[in-house]
Amino acid sequence: MNPNNCFYCTEEYKDYMKEVAILAHSRVYLNNEQEYPGRCYVVLDIHKTELFQLDDEKLAGYMKDVAKVAQAIQHVFSPDKINYAVYGDIDSHIHFHLVPKTRAGKMWGWPFELTGEEGKKKFLTEEQYQSIIDKLKAHL
Ligand SMILES: [Zn+2]
Repeated sequence: MNPNNCFYCTEEYKDYMKEVAILAHSRVYLNNEQEYPGRCYVVLDIHKTELFQLDDEKLAGYMKDVAKVAQAIQHVFSPDKINYAVYGDIDSHIHFHLVPKTRAGKMWGWPFELTGEEGKKKFLTEEQYQSIIDKLKAHL
């Protein structure tokens, strides 16, 4: 995909997520939809679509960012497990979904799934988003 019409290289993503931090090799966002509390994206800072396109330094640096964000989520939300999902069929710019899960919560033992039903999506107030962002930032 041409970076000019890439979801993550344009401003389009801003309707769906809030910036948490800029790290050495990535941008970190909190998803507006919070069915899984603390769900974040870690978006590579350059337009590449496959991990094998990165040189060793970039790949290691990006993975370090992913691990750092996961650790911050662990500190703030104490999930039983964080799931790491990389798909990119539609928006192929490399990004990890970091999805905190609990044994008693949704889809334990299975890939995370969103309801996709408007009425069941979980959105927060601006104050609640900011509170989460502040807490995550304190660990990044
Ligand atoms: Zn892109």
